[in-house]
Amino acid sequence: MIIYGTKATLRRTEAAPGLTCPACSTTDQMWLNVFSRYAHVYWVPLFPFSKPAVAHCAHCKGTWAEKELPAEAAELKQAAELLRQHTTAPWWQWSGLVVLALGLVVALVAGRRHDQDSATFLAAPRAGDVYTVHDSDTARRYSLLKVVAAHGNTVELVANNYDIDDRHPLEELNQTDKYSKEPFTLTQLDLTIMRNKGQLTDVDRPEQE
Ligand SMILES: [Zn+2]
Repeated sequence: MIIYGTKATLRRTEAAPGLTCPACSTTDQMWLNVFSRYAHVYWVPLFPFSKPAVAHCAHCKGTWAEKELPAEAAELKQAAELLRQHTTAPWWQWSGLVVLALGLVVALVAGRRHDQDSATFLAAPRAGDVYTVHDSDTARRYSLLKVVAAHGNTVELVANNYDIDDRHPLEELNQTDKYSKEPFTLTQLDLTIMRNKGQLTDVDRPEQE
């Protein structure tokens, strides 16, 4: 269950001198409050979305939201609207969105960097490189090929004996005893074709990490 909702904090309180209470008609006892209402998820503020204004009479204790003010209290309404327009939400009410945006940027940069590394590794294979492969016939099964030697434009590989549903099987399958003992050879061209067909989905160079 996701816990979410809205909350409001008081941003501003100002006297409204010269204005009259719509209930008890006392003058110079009116106060205006402006709140900033924000959405939160698990009590982390996400973003502010409204600034409700409330008029309050210190004499009769009457309280009105801006919209509830009677037509004859036009001046009070105007003052509330003006104060509302000049009140801003505090920066911290954006903190959840800022954190989410930063997280997204970090993930994008890391993902892009990983893709660049993959291309570099595939172009210049080294013993120990691990390719994530998946077979179009068993669309959701992923396995690994490990480079045991690279010479010129051919690579010698051993196939992993297992396949799993996870698109990133490296952690689970990259143990020496899970690989076949029988190497086979592919050319750079084979690898490029596999990459372009989406059969070779990722390249890792674990010893560098
Ligand atoms: Zn009053």
